[in-house]
Amino acid sequence: MVIDKDVAITVKNFLLNYAEVHGLPSPVRNVNRVTQSIIFLPAEMSYKSVHRDFLAGLEEDNTLRALKYDAFRKLWHQLTPYIQIMSPRTDLCDTCQHLRNDLQFKARKEEEAQDLLKRYKEHLAKAKLERNYYNKNTKLAEEHRKLINQKYPIAIAKNKIPYRSVDAAAHYSYD
Ligand SMILES: [Zn+2]
Repeated sequence: MVIDKDVAITVKNFLLNYAEVHGLPSPVRNVNRVTQSIIFLPAEMSYKSVHRDFLAGLEEDNTLRALKYDAFRKLWHQLTPYIQIMSPRTDLCDTCQHLRNDLQFKARKEEEAQDLLKRYKEHLAKAKLERNYYNKNTKLAEEHRKLINQKYPIAIAKNKIPYRSVDAAAHYSYD
């Protein structure tokens, strides 16, 4: 089928509406759409599933039913590149999962969504702090290990280290 201006407008309006309904609330939701930041669709969705929903919403005799998936996806990238699908993450902690889930399915009012978004961002910031602390410590333990190896190379080689206290950090992690 020919992708003319009418087709483009219809697809664009569909995607804007779709993002309005399913998208994760963004703090700048009411800002002019041209300058709008990214809207995320839930990770369970895909370009294919959205295309299916698009077709499913059309009347039987609508010529747009002939719009193929590849053309639909191309229009999406051209017209509304700021509507994106959230990448599926399987390594999320419980808190992340709950907050993201609430954001997607439970937040009814804008204030609720804002609050959840704020908590999610705070959680991510804390997680980053923890990760930095962890990385710093494993690195420190590695460096201390090297120093000990340098200091007692012969004893280590002979597997005989006389008792003495060593001022060094070791790092243990448990899963
Ligand atoms: Zn988390």
